[in-house]
Amino acid sequence: MFDEIRDLYQEVVFDHNRNPRNFRVMEDATRKIDGFNPLCGDRITLYIKVNDGIIEDVSFQGSGCAISTASASLMTEIVRGQSEEQAHEWFELFHRITTGQDERASFEELGKLAVLAGVRAYPARVKCATLPWHSLEAALKNEAESVSTE
Ligand code: ZN
Repeated sequence: MFDEIRDLYQEVVFDHNRNPRNFRVMEDATRKIDGFNPLCGDRITLYIKVNDGIIEDVSFQGSGCAISTASASLMTEIVRGQSEEQAHEWFELFHRITTGQDERASFEELGKLAVLAGVRAYPARVKCATLPWHSLEAALKNEAESVSTE
C-alpha cells in the first residue's frame, strides 16, 4: 500500500508541477499575499477572492520547486468554493499530517490531500508543501502582506 501511495504521490506531483492549476494573476482578488520559503527558495503569490465568507476564486503565481508548485496547485482545487472556516480546517489538518501529528486521518477523509501527505517521507520538503497553506492561512486572517516559513 505504501508503495502505491508513493507512486501516486510522485505521479500527481509531477502532473501538477508540469501543469499547475489556477496558475494566474487574479485582477479582482480581495486579498493577495507573498509567501517565501528561504530553505528552498520557493516563492508564491497567492490570490483569493472572498465573498460573504466563501472563497469564490483562488489562484497563484510564483516560482518554486515541484513540491511547492504541486502543493499550491492542489490547494487551489481543494479550497475553491469552500468557506473560510472550511479552508482553515484543511490547513489545520494538512499541518497535522505533514508534521506527523496525525497518522490516523484516513486517505478517504483526506481526498486529494492524501497525495501530499506523502511528503512526510521527505522531512526536508515539508516546508515546500506547507508554504502555500501558510500563505492561505495568512490571507484568510488578513493580517500580513507576506509570510515566511522561517
Ligand atoms: Zn521547495
